[in-house]
Amino acid sequence: MNDTMNDTMNDTMNDTMNGIDDPCGSEEHVQFLINYKDMLETNISTMENKIETYTHKLVEIKQYLVENCEHDVETDFIYSMRNGDTISTMIKYCTKCNLTFR
Ligand SMILES: [Zn+2]
Repeated sequence: MNDTMNDTMNDTMNDTMNGIDDPCGSEEHVQFLINYKDMLETNISTMENKIETYTHKLVEIKQYLVENCEHDVETDFIYSMRNGDTISTMIKYCTKCNLTFR
């Protein structure tokens, strides 16, 4: 590979990575970034699994609360603007568990 090609590739890499400094373009630096990439992929995968687990738990807990909380339901209105008009939406919620109802 000639120097011009090398420079072009380095420039492209630098542009793509936005802010990751590549002062020498050495093999060590590339290896470091490969490891870093692998670590980020593993972290993202772990977080995605956590989010899935938490989401599942949350659904279960909400379902339990729907059935087992002695709800104290209050009615309130939320106001929002749409095309210059004020729109009020009625909401019903439990003052104990904070679940909302239709
Ligand atoms: Zn409740």
